[in-house]
Amino acid sequence: MGKVIGIDLGTTNSLVAWMNKDGPQIVPDEQGIGLLPSIVGFAEGKPVVGLAARNGATSAAQTFFSVKRFMGKALSDFDAAELARLPYAIDGDSRSVRFPVGSTNYTPVQISAMILATLKKRAERFLGEFILKDAVITVPAYFNDAQRQATRDAGEMAGLDVLRIVNEPTAAALAYGLDKRNQGIIAVYDLGGGTFDISILRLENGVFEVLATAGDNHLGGDNIDDRLTALLLTEIQETHGFDLSTDREFLVKIRRIAEQAKKDLSYAEATRLLLELPDGKRLDQILTRTEFEKILEPLVQRTLGPSQQALKDAGLSPAQIDEVVLVGGSTRIPLVRKAVAELFGRKPHDELNPDEVVALGAAIQADILAGGTTEMLLLDVTPLSLGLETMGGVMERLIDRNATIPCRAKETFTTAVDNQTGIDIHVLQGERELVSDNRSLARFKLAGIPPMPAGMAKVEIIFLIDADGILNVSASELRSGVATSVTVKPSYLSDDDIADILDASFENAETDIQQRQLIEARVEAERRFPKAEELLTEMSEVGAPETLEAAQKALEALRIAYTQENHLGIRDAIDALELAAEPLVAQRMNEAVGSALRNRSTDDILAKVEQARLQG
Ligand code: ADP
Ligand code: MG
Repeated sequence: MGKVIGIDLGTTNSLVAWMNKDGPQIVPDEQGIGLLPSIVGFAEGKPVVGLAARNGATSAAQTFFSVKRFMGKALSDFDAAELARLPYAIDGDSRSVRFPVGSTNYTPVQISAMILATLKKRAERFLGEFILKDAVITVPAYFNDAQRQATRDAGEMAGLDVLRIVNEPTAAALAYGLDKRNQGIIAVYDLGGGTFDISILRLENGVFEVLATAGDNHLGGDNIDDRLTALLLTEIQETHGFDLSTDREFLVKIRRIAEQAKKDLSYAEATRLLLELPDGKRLDQILTRTEFEKILEPLVQRTLGPSQQALKDAGLSPAQIDEVVLVGGSTRIPLVRKAVAELFGRKPHDELNPDEVVALGAAIQADILAGGTTEMLLLDVTPLSLGLETMGGVMERLIDRNATIPCRAKETFTTAVDNQTGIDIHVLQGERELVSDNRSLARFKLAGIPPMPAGMAKVEIIFLIDADGILNVSASELRSGVATSVTVKPSYLSDDDIADILDASFENAETDIQQRQLIEARVEAERRFPKAEELLTEMSEVGAPETLEAAQKALEALRIAYTQENHLGIRDAIDALELAAEPLVAQRMNEAVGSALRNRSTDDILAKVEQARLQG
């Protein structure tokens, strides 16, 4: 395998890195700049990518930034107020997001592909390769299937072979060489432009495992810029009487001034805000770090909730964390560093440039895949549980939330009625007990099962989550060999949705379990009714009258229990029926064996014995 590049496709900035003999290196552009602003503007319909677009080469309405927020999402996932603040044109519906440019509509995947293609070209020129195809691309740990798939699609659209989608925090830990430790627990705190991610990693014998992840897909430097911009707009309105909040060109300008002030305040105690106003007057004022920190404080506080949640999910206290890593441009802010140090009670790693850490780690992962580094294996986790619908509308969990991926789970099912030739498979995601309370990911049918008695078919269902977090579900009937599978199509699910799902599952845990127990007991009872009736009919001539009567009574008792809302009552009645019917089942089994022996067919015997057992 040739060279593999590592790409950090960021909300705000993107980078490409590669591995040379001195370690991972950021690939610079012709001016020697590493960061490529993740911005695509259009001038007369032609795309302009990066710094030029950022510096106003294209009109505000056609300059698209923070497009990563829209990857794998629909317009309806966003609130109107948030969309209204964007200086660029945006369109879409409950299934998609589009960026209109003249008569062309671009998707977030297409815009991202333009950024990736720019990085690809940059790497090809720098490395003197005619064509460089193989790449690793990073995504926030909280990205769901749809977002990961969209990222992969963008890579492919840019002409890349995406070998692996890697979580950004995992890449960051690699960049810090924390794999050189023998073992330890690492917290990665990533506050970038548009997203906040906290991940707790465990390292053991050179293997990384993500114990837990949490975050906020709507929290980052952009929010700080928003607040500062809003503050300036209010200031202008109060002192000069202009409402500039709907002037797009002006908004772009004022946002850039706000961002620069923010950056300055990471190093200076005060900064000067200077802005030309439309009437020729100027806004000129000093902003001190103390004033700025008042705006900042609530945003910094908002990172602590997810941080504590991740610790809780990992079952760890802050004192049990061995290393803390800072990632993302916004972690240059002194107040952020202070908050992180306080939360974990230790000084975080900040030796590397926080904007570059992820790309450097991606290059290391790329090198692993290219065969350069071989000792490591990277593991991540699933954000929500995955399972199947079973009888009575209950979800059967196959893979738990926060399970380490790649992973595999297997479950065997059987047919419920005689000569059933198909099984409906309904794949679900969520934390609730009932199917109706969870998300439906896919439905498919395993057809072509040869007719056989109920319970004879052995349908094995396998859930496989690959290293990119993409789910493949396959089903096969083991006796006949018929098989089918689906790769679960990415669907739209925001982080807020995930948070809501978790909240609801905690709130409803008790009633959910009771309902599930009742449904399961009833399903169990429903299975018994036809079997018990069949047994009674079949044995009516040959069974002992007292036994027949006892079994009949037990069956009636179960019918009554079935109508009550008490799962324990149903279970007791099932047990009682089982006990009462036992002599009849035994007698029937003996007769089956006896008659089969007379026919001298071993296969028959086996089949009948099995059938009698399954029916009993
Ligand atoms: P992303 O991963 O979202 O692309 P980055 O890690 O590149 O983001 O971080 C970008 C954010 O970091 C921007 O909001 C930018 O304003 C902010 N940032 C960069 N440098 C500084 C700094 N010196 N002080 C404060 N924020 C900064
Ligand atoms: Mg980042």
